[in-house]
Amino acid sequence: MPLIVVSGLPTSGKTTRAKQLRDYLAARIAETQPPKYRLHLVSDDSLSISRAVYDLSPDTVRLHTRSANSSEKDARAALYGAVKRLLSDRDFVILDGLNYIKGWRYQLHCEAKAMRTPNCILRVACPVDQARHINEERRRRQRQRGDTTTTTTTGQQQTGEAAPEPYEPANWDNLVFRYEEPNPMTRWDSPLFALLWDDDETQTKQTFDRLWDAMAGEGRKAVRPNQ
Ligand code: ADP
Ligand code: MG
Repeated sequence: MPLIVVSGLPTSGKTTRAKQLRDYLAARIAETQPPKYRLHLVSDDSLSISRAVYDLSPDTVRLHTRSANSSEKDARAALYGAVKRLLSDRDFVILDGLNYIKGWRYQLHCEAKAMRTPNCILRVACPVDQARHINEERRRRQRQRGDTTTTTTTGQQQTGEAAPEPYEPANWDNLVFRYEEPNPMTRWDSPLFALLWDDDETQTKQTFDRLWDAMAGEGRKAVRPNQ
């Protein structure tokens, strides 16, 4: 049914929060008897999209890519296709990813509207230095593993286990620089729910309760195609 677009800086805790939301929604959906909704979590990881697709550094852009950001465009097309296939009046879709381009969030909003289903943004907020630290830690652990794992642009790991893939530092910095903050004054970024790094279980549950109410409860507005 509704589309929930997670948005935040790289390594800011998006996947952690998206999984918490999935567990919360699964419990809420189970309360409706018979269950009214199905639940899906779509992410770069679920579609095996590598962090490298966001890398615009000329020396790391793969030779076969058509232009600097064509791999990212392909990744967005794959994500868009997956969301479009799943969205219906019975399906909750959580899109876990950077979702940092406002034009992209607008496109997703239009898709939800075409399906006559509500959409919202879950902004995962985290201090930049904290997020950078997590990426550095992941890089350190990757080096420690002696991880020579190379990842293809579709993210298929050729060796090694599924440890979280870090970003190259220049790629990480660039994504932070390019991040377009969601603006709740625009209709495609609203309603907007935010979780802070330090939000504990109680605060997180309160935010999820408000989100549920707006998407599936009393607070849900009828979606009209001309809105
Ligand atoms: P992203 O999906 O944005 O790359 P992750 O959800 O993978 O980020 O989180 C990165 C790391 O930070 C994980 O090791 C996770 O356990 C930790 N983490 C995420 N959110 C929090 C939080 N709110 N408080 C403490 N640790 C967190
Ligand atoms: Mg993630």
